[in-house]
Amino acid sequence: MCADSTKEEITIEIKGKDLSHFLELPDRDILAKTYAFHEFTDELVNQQFHHWGRILTSPSEHRVTILDRYTNTEREMVMMASNNYLGLTTHPRVKEAAIKAVEKYGGGAGSVPLLGGRMDLHRELELKLAQMKGCEDAIIFSSGYSSNVGCVSALVRQNDVAINDRLNHASIIDGCRLSGGTLRTFKHNDLNSLEKVLRVTDKEFNGKLIIVDGVFSMDGDICRLPEIKELADKYGAKIMIDEAHATGVIGQTGRGTPEHFQMEGQIDIVAGTLSKALAVVGGFVASSKEVVNYLRFYARSHMFSTALPPAAVGALIAGIEVIQTEPELRKKLWYNINYMISNLKKMGFDLGNAETAIIPIIVGDNDKLMLMSREIHQAGIFLNPVYYPAVPKKLSRLRLSLMATHTQEDLDDTLEVIERVGKKYGLI
Ligand code: PMP
Repeated sequence: MCADSTKEEITIEIKGKDLSHFLELPDRDILAKTYAFHEFTDELVNQQFHHWGRILTSPSEHRVTILDRYTNTEREMVMMASNNYLGLTTHPRVKEAAIKAVEKYGGGAGSVPLLGGRMDLHRELELKLAQMKGCEDAIIFSSGYSSNVGCVSALVRQNDVAINDRLNHASIIDGCRLSGGTLRTFKHNDLNSLEKVLRVTDKEFNGKLIIVDGVFSMDGDICRLPEIKELADKYGAKIMIDEAHATGVIGQTGRGTPEHFQMEGQIDIVAGTLSKALAVVGGFVASSKEVVNYLRFYARSHMFSTALPPAAVGALIAGIEVIQTEPELRKKLWYNINYMISNLKKMGFDLGNAETAIIPIIVGDNDKLMLMSREIHQAGIFLNPVYYPAVPKKLSRLRLSLMATHTQEDLDDTLEVIERVGKKYGLI
């Protein structure tokens, strides 16, 4: 089969449709859109194009077993879609700490943090995160999503402006939408564009918060923090950085983007998730004691949501200690990153500006991407296609996430499949 045969392979029921198609389907029956979407996803399953929500029957490690919805059997796959960057979800110290925390504190925290759900374990984690991020204090949330939503919506008020890199994570954008303030964007990693927005907004608004991802979640590139800081100082703006994909990955000791640029202590607000390299669940904001104190009362996703369960908190404390005492994990992750980026580039793939553990392989054609993903799944490699509207149509892609625990065999098996499929569909 050559690239042109994609046309016959994708049936009319799904051809040209993506998730954006089902957002607005006006009908007197408010649930009509769900029926239409259900038919669409059924058809995706029939043709083996439905790779969302694959069910794991094992831990999220370098090799997983899944319950394959197409064959209804259990099968092994090389996992290239986990954010468990350092392999800590199953680290013995992490597991043991979770069990000990359950034994001492039980299953749940019992309440929201302000009204009875805050344990000494939570405080220990806050202080560890503050120290790791070189900040005075930290506050924890039930997810990275809710820490971004809570932090941005608490700080950006009427007559304030949140100035976002266009590729910022959805949780930041949702926080801006919930806030009483105004959302403005600048072109991805483009300092001229940022300065233009700063200049234009300077007179129009009171407070200005520049928000960027440290490592961008779809592109795997790093924000230009030193230049952003210069511009922030020039225009009297504050900076918030989302360290979701940077913590544990970049910086000499894995402390993230400020450490990578030797700018620790210079960034006003350092947010992040506890679910990727830190391998459990939750989110945090590290900042000055005043900002953290304010968020405890005004970040609604913190205020009105029960504190993290003790098992998670215990595991997270142990995970941070592992990051600090076992640097060889990060070293191995970087070996894997460099090996994959250099080999994929050698093969001729377009990887955008990939430079961290997230590697996009740009396909730029939805039909081709669907067919390629089906073959990659069948070949036993678990990675995700990313379609419009998550990324622009011309930049639809395969997205790989690397881990320290990937073996040479995992990497080579993945490269072999991607090269074969890439050739078949004319990408290389
Ligand atoms: N920020 C970024 C950049 C992310 O990629 C993610 C996770 N997809 C989040 C925030 C949200 O984190 P969590 O999964 O812990 O809610």
